[in-house]
Amino acid sequence: MARRKKIYEGKAKTLYEGPEPGTLVQYFKDDATAFNAEKRDVIEGKGVLNNRLSEYFMTGLQQIGVPTHFLKRINMREQLIRAVEIIPLEVIVRNYAAGSMAKRLGMEEGTPLPRPMVEFSYKNDDLGDPLVPEEYIISFGWASQQDLDDMVALALRVNDFLSGVMYAVGIKLVDFKIEIGRLYEGDFQRLIVADEISPDSCRLWDLETNERLDKDVFRRDLGNLADAYTEVARRLGVMPTNSAPLGKPTLIN
Ligand code: UDP
Repeated sequence: MARRKKIYEGKAKTLYEGPEPGTLVQYFKDDATAFNAEKRDVIEGKGVLNNRLSEYFMTGLQQIGVPTHFLKRINMREQLIRAVEIIPLEVIVRNYAAGSMAKRLGMEEGTPLPRPMVEFSYKNDDLGDPLVPEEYIISFGWASQQDLDDMVALALRVNDFLSGVMYAVGIKLVDFKIEIGRLYEGDFQRLIVADEISPDSCRLWDLETNERLDKDVFRRDLGNLADAYTEVARRLGVMPTNSAPLGKPTLIN
């Protein structure tokens, strides 16, 4: 059988050519990286969990009318997605101060923000994904003002959805990152949620204890990352089908 064509290999995922034009296969690896890939490890089962969790969030978003790239899950590690032109920005939404914001402004992590705040980083590993003001984005032609307005609206809808889903299972959505892609339909373009939504790209804290259930467990050596992600999946009732991710029995509730 002919080997399928690799389109792009990133730090945590690989993209392959899809079965039909306009589609791609997104493969979730077990690789974990942080601090611009200075810290790296392989976390057995992470890819399986993120594949399922991203499917769960993207499917839910689609059900409330937020367009995403997700088409269907193919197997434990792969999903079929729409091919889009990724806008080279990380769209970050924050509900509580944490991470780079807390550091930059000298705020205590977990301080509630007056309202959800949206910010943009320019996707460039060599530069360490620098925070960029809207004026840079428009002046350098990465996106138009209309795109920006649409991206903020999309990001806030994702925030409301994800915050509610997480709150229902006793998890606080502190912040998250999404990537947005352009989908061309004839002469028109639509912006849709792309990439992934998983504990790799969100900060998730237990509502009662503030225990970290996201990639900060890896970044800050707080424990076992796969256990944290498994806990998120367990609370949401989302567990990999067919086999247990980490040699544990598959239990749904
Ligand atoms: N984030 C991400 N990829 C990045 C940078 C950030 O998924 O390359 C997510 C991160 O997990 C967090 C949110 O975006 O949920 C805000 O991250 P922050 O700016 O605080 O940066 P960090 O502290 O991760 O460097």
